[in-house]
Amino acid sequence: MATSLSDRLSTELAGLRDAGLLISPRVLEAPQRARTRVDGRAVVNLASNNYLGFADHPKLKARAQEYLEKWGAGAGAVRTIAGTLQIHEDFERQIAAFKHTGSALVLHSGFTTNQGVLGALLQEGDLVVSDELNHASIIDGLRLTKATRKVFRHADPADLERVLRENPTDGLVMVVTDGVFSMDGDVAPLDELVAVARKFGAVTYVDDAHGSGVMGPQGSGTVHHFGFEYADDVIQVGTLSKAWGGVGGYAAGHGDLRQLLINRARPYLFSTAMAPATVGALAAALDEVQADPSLMERLWDNTRFFKAELHRLGFDTMGSVTPITPVVFGEAPAAFEASRRLFDEGIFAVGLGFPTVPRGKARIRNIVTAEHTRADLEQALSAYEKVGRALGII
Ligand SMILES: *Cc1c(COP(=O)(O)O)cnc(C)c1O
Repeated sequence: MATSLSDRLSTELAGLRDAGLLISPRVLEAPQRARTRVDGRAVVNLASNNYLGFADHPKLKARAQEYLEKWGAGAGAVRTIAGTLQIHEDFERQIAAFKHTGSALVLHSGFTTNQGVLGALLQEGDLVVSDELNHASIIDGLRLTKATRKVFRHADPADLERVLRENPTDGLVMVVTDGVFSMDGDVAPLDELVAVARKFGAVTYVDDAHGSGVMGPQGSGTVHHFGFEYADDVIQVGTLSKAWGGVGGYAAGHGDLRQLLINRARPYLFSTAMAPATVGALAAALDEVQADPSLMERLWDNTRFFKAELHRLGFDTMGSVTPITPVVFGEAPAAFEASRRLFDEGIFAVGLGFPTVPRGKARIRNIVTAEHTRADLEQALSAYEKVGRALGII
């Protein structure tokens, strides 16, 4: 007899519950801001990826409304059929100009961008070498290809070199890394990784989801931070869903990249184009980050302040150098307990444990934004001090 759906659901859910891995997300009852309401409580929000405060920014909302009125609620079709509106084309040119690349294409999310681009570029006989801590969407994207897949040790150029030397091929060779790693807040050593890649004629593919709007001049990204923005052998992909405040993904690089993706990337070919209001919000976000340098200044000012004060209190932030600020609590139950206690103090920050992060490194991940005031961060720090002492961490 076949397994019933009820059996499958109850078995799987019980397994997750028993392992302490069952997720039920907290619900925001107000917009995504530095201060918001979550599950009936007013909180300082350190849980979002809303680095520049764009998710509820008046200029983004105004442009979204304008595009909604002028272009409608939906794009109406897959882009190759009849869904490419003038605003999609204009927005892609805006991204390519901002990124200083030969071309750019927008897809529906960062997740589908990795599926679409890796799937379109890599073929049988190619070699792809991926950092062991790369994002789940890269891992899934690579599963769609027939290329030989290898892994190098996290942020380790010498190990990358070893893997490239041991796996020679006449096919395309691609090195894949996150720009900023989402769990530890560390930055890929792109200067060294690109140098190693070039020795072997390899292309470097950087997923800059947490670097876009955060790293480099005007938030142009980690590739810009390291000065590789004009390189044809570097592909930048990323999300429009974190710092840029909307939802979507982009791929930018070589002048012919866009044309190939239009013809081969399956999310482009088989999924309806981004809604006009989202295009409007994102176009306004790119304008705003260039028009208002204080956004980047506040983001980094807040980042430095929050990290320095956590260190002064005796917390371990794992050497993070970006606004992603992990605070280590040891094992998962301690991190989850700390997250609950912080919430009771009016601080919203999510605990992460094994298997999301290694055993013994369970943590609370805080993301500082440009929108936080000193008072917000000071309130968070005094809650951290209280909870850290109560749990014997400091
Ligand atoms: C968040 C993230 C994604 C997914 O982006 P979405 O636009 O939310 O789908 C992809 N890659 C990395 C490295 C990420 O951190």
